[in-house]
Parts: sequence; C-alpha cells; structure tokens
Amino acid sequence: MSATERLMRYAGIDTQSDPDSQSHPSSEKQFDLARLLVKELRELGVEDAMVDEHCYVYGHLPSNISQKVPAIGFIAHMDTSPDYSGAGVSPRIIENYDGKDIPLSETMTMKISDFPWMRDLAGKTLMVTDGTTLLGADDKAGIAAIMEAVEYFHDHSEEKHGPVSIAFTPDEEIGRGTACFDPERFQAEFAFTMDGDSIAVYSDETFNAETAHVEIHGFSIHPGAAKNRMKNASLIACEFIGLLPDWLTPAHTENREGFLHLTRLTGTEEKAEFSILLRDFDSENMRKYEELILDAADFINRRYGEKTAAVTFSKTYQNMHEILGRKPEISSLGEKAIRSLGYEPQNVPIRGGTDGAALTFMGIPCPNLGCGGNNFHGPYEYCVLEELEDAAVLIRRIIAAVREETE
Ligand SMILES: [Zn+2]
Repeated sequence: MSATERLMRYAGIDTQSDPDSQSHPSSEKQFDLARLLVKELRELGVEDAMVDEHCYVYGHLPSNISQKVPAIGFIAHMDTSPDYSGAGVSPRIIENYDGKDIPLSETMTMKISDFPWMRDLAGKTLMVTDGTTLLGADDKAGIAAIMEAVEYFHDHSEEKHGPVSIAFTPDEEIGRGTACFDPERFQAEFAFTMDGDSIAVYSDETFNAETAHVEIHGFSIHPGAAKNRMKNASLIACEFIGLLPDWLTPAHTENREGFLHLTRLTGTEEKAEFSILLRDFDSENMRKYEELILDAADFINRRYGEKTAAVTFSKTYQNMHEILGRKPEISSLGEKAIRSLGYEPQNVPIRGGTDGAALTFMGIPCPNLGCGGNNFHGPYEYCVLEELEDAAVLIRRIIAAVREETE
C-alpha cells in the first residue's frame, strides 16, 4: 500500500471532534478510525497495538538489534476540526497539476488569487476535496505516513532499528489531545508529532499562552435618574479595552510578534466580562503583557472605585522551546532527515500550541514535522502527495539516524 492510498481510506472515516462534549473522546465516532488502525497495526506485526477507553491508540515496534538505542515516538491525531464537515469526504487526485485554479465542484473553485503559493506546486500530484467537506489531511496524512513507515519495517525485517513507539490521539482540534495521554504506555524518550504542513518545515517552538479573565462590576440604576450615579459596566469594559495598545492585536502582528487578543466580551450595566488571550514566544514579553493589563485595571479602579475591575490569569501552555532549546540534537534529527530528502529545511515557530508542546512538558520532548497538507480546517484543504510519500521515508530516516548514533 502507499501513504496516498491510506490517506484516501482514512479520510473517508468521519472523526470530527466535538467542542461541546465533556467526554473523552469528545465523539464516539473517533473509535471507528482507532479500531481500524489497531487492526492494521496488528496485521503489520505491531502485536501490542491497542486502543484504550479514551480512544488513544498505542503500539510499539520492539528493537531488532542488541545495542541500546533510545526509544523514539511518532504521534498523529485522528480527529478533524469542528470548523467544517468531515462527513462523507470524497477526495480526488489531480496528477501533474497545472498550477492554475482548481474547480472543486460546480460552485466552488480553489483560486490561485486566494492561494498564490499553489502556483509553485505545478507538476505535483494533489489530493483535494469535492468542496463539501474538509480533506482531513490534518492529521490523517500524519497517520498515513506513520502507518506506511510501519509497513516498511514489517516488509523489511533486515532493516535494523531501536524501539519505536506509536500513538494516535483523539480531540487534538479541540485542545484536548493530551488530556488522557499515557506517557507510561507510550514509552518514548522523545517523539515527533507529524502534524504540520510542508514537509520542509519543522517546528520546535510554540507560543506561551495565558488567558486574562476580566470582570467589571458596575452600578446599575434607572437611566432616567442616573446622573453622577450610574457606572455602566459595559462602557467601563470598553474603556478598559481601549487602554490596551491597538498594535498588539492579532490583526497587527505576525512572525515572531506576540499579541493580546480580546474574546468573549459580554455585558450589562451591572456586570461585564471578557477574556484577553496573551500570546508570545518570549516569556519576558508575557510578563510585560500581564503588566499592561494590570495597569489598565489599576487605572479603572482609581477612576471608578476599588474592585470595579478584577483580573485573574490562567496559564494555557508554554513555549516548548524552553525545553527543546536545551536539546537541539532532537530537532536536528528532523532537520537532517528533511535535507536528506532534497528539501531545504525551514525552522518555523508555531503561532499557536501543539500537542507536542504539552508532551514536551510531560517529559517527552516533541518537535513537529509536516506531511504535505495545507489550507487546513476547510474545503480548500489539499495534500501534496509526493510530500506525503516522502514523509513516510522521513520517519524511516529519523529512526535510522537514531540507531546510527549508537553505533
Ligand atoms: Zn492537526
């Protein structure tokens, strides 16, 4: 089988996660893919492949050499984004792409004017949607690449390798991909998430993430009798937000710049609430953003009275580079393998979080690699199939490099 055939098959199984559910997994249908993967892993000689009650699939390729080699893991997520339908996905393959607009359906066209970088994909083979669903290459391309590498080792017992751990996780798209992850069962010293876009890109850095929850307490009174007495919490909330620098919003920042992002604003005269997401690669800057918010609260409280504004901060995730930066040899395994396949490696920081960031702080350092997909979470999602097939080879090269280091 090829990684392409695998992606085609896995994409046909609806695994959309559900942000409104409190259960683990958030949707039972993720088990449909989990059970298939366990069956396939067993057929490929992964004898201990299993799925647990929370829909995490684990399996191991035992070492087939005598020397001690560190256990390396590969991880991909099974769920697709709740942002767009993942039911009835029927992918289409375009061979020798002409670098022009791609009609997806009667009414929908993937336009070069919207996605200009696609011009550079002329000559490649693409997998696209029929315009009614997302493709699910995020992250079934990662699953397909890992399964393809497993199949290779199954068919080539002469290929020597150390211990390899595999995990397929549910609910990554709703931020709960590591909620019930079991590091004991996974058993890897370090790992890679196969959950990026271009195969040339690797990432060992994520944002630091924190949320400020702000409550504004007003004083409500009949507006006809409000002079010099009413404190309208909603208006005070607007004033608070106006005290924060406009140039720090997501719409004004890119690359390595962090931001303050207003969300969930609700209010009446009596009470207003909102959240501000703090994001930056640099933890020093995070302290500065906290200061900005606390200064704004202080100003409001001096103007309208003590306890008008109350701020609490909660941490969401940390930049995994704090740990991966001290272990550059891990990312460099990915970088060298990318180069060995003829791509120019690019280290691109992720303007968000990854399951790998959470795993890194759980003791499994975990950079991210790409498998050729792009335009995730919507009908314009596609996968470059040459890159997908290369991603399976990339995994093998990394496994081989870990073995070679111990020889
Ligand atoms: Zn993903």
